[in-house]
Amino acid sequence: MLKAISDTEWWDELKGMLSNHSLLELDVSLAKMTTFGVGGKARYYIEPGSVNDLRIAIEGARDRGKPIFFIGRGSNLLVPDEGFNGMIVRLNRKYWRGISSEADGRIYAGGGARLKEICRVACKLGLSGFEFLEGIPGTLGGGLAMNAGAMGSRIFDLIEEVEFIRYDGELKKERRDWFQVGYRECRELENSVVLSAILRADTEEVERTIKEKLEHFARERKKSQPGGRNAGCIFKNPAGEYTGQIIDELGLKGRRVGGAEISNLHGNFIVNRGNATCADVIALIKDVREEVRRNRGIDLRPEVLLLGRDWDEVL
Ligand SMILES: Cc1cc2nc3c(=O)[nH]c(=O)nc-3n(C[C@H](O)[C@H](O)[C@H](O)COP(=O)(O)OP(=O)(O)OC[C@H]3O[C@@H](n4cnc5c(N)ncnc54)[C@H](O)[C@@H]3O)c2cc1C
Repeated sequence: MLKAISDTEWWDELKGMLSNHSLLELDVSLAKMTTFGVGGKARYYIEPGSVNDLRIAIEGARDRGKPIFFIGRGSNLLVPDEGFNGMIVRLNRKYWRGISSEADGRIYAGGGARLKEICRVACKLGLSGFEFLEGIPGTLGGGLAMNAGAMGSRIFDLIEEVEFIRYDGELKKERRDWFQVGYRECRELENSVVLSAILRADTEEVERTIKEKLEHFARERKKSQPGGRNAGCIFKNPAGEYTGQIIDELGLKGRRVGGAEISNLHGNFIVNRGNATCADVIALIKDVREEVRRNRGIDLRPEVLLLGRDWDEVL
């Protein structure tokens, strides 16, 4: 049964239960933890330093009835201006970012490891097949939750096994076939946190060939994607079409609401021109959806996630 204690007392109690390898803070700005750079604060923020601390944090939030959300690099995330009145957990301590070479062309990576770093290590080891990760600015956990992909490949193609904890506390280890992944989603990882995974390459190639592929992919991205603050593609592609092309054909590039602007380089990117609010981004998303629905009869679905909210409530 819950003791009748205040939220502050609960938080202090939780702090006392975690090791000093964990970081706990109140009222942390989330804008700086996302690539979009918009939005408010998280009331409770934790970077757990071990699996045990992670479990205690999840259990603590659950028992206290606080919503919980895992954030990786925040590269597919829009944070509401009012912030998040729950617990944000980030696997950002060194403990979660390890990457190591295993037998037979396998790579172990922690849930907080950067995809770019995994790509770099694979390249060094002469393992091919990881090159498409080069330009995806997320973490392993975020990449798996989104089934991130590029250049015709997706991250689950590389997966042998994933270790994760469900919010109810169950620790699981599952092989790739167990996951029913879809386009930018993995239902089995909802309400779960990825601790680590074993990735494996299909082929071995000389480092030079891999480097050539990497350079080619990087050039392609540079040509087609804007720099600055953004969250990658805003909308999913409808079957058989490219959202960026549809937006381009409708002449919507450059359209702006407040500080949020549709990129002139890629129609499916919204760029934060420096002072955008979440409300600006949402207004622009609604505007684009309306234009596309009216002119093309297509109902665009956002790829970017809205922290703590369901898009259907907002759109
Ligand atoms: C410039 C740019 C280019 C991009 N290009 C691509 C691209 O080519 N292909 C592509 O697919 N995406 C792309 N993205 C989007 C984004 O990088 C990916 O979706 C990425 O996988 C998100 O990872 P993240 O760590 O930033 O996750 P976040 O944005 O922090 O979170 C995304 C989801 O993952 C969950 N999550 C985070 N960590 C964990 C964890 N440890 N366990 C379980 N769930 C977790 C979150 O709860 C959330 O549901 C791009 C983004 C940018 C800014």
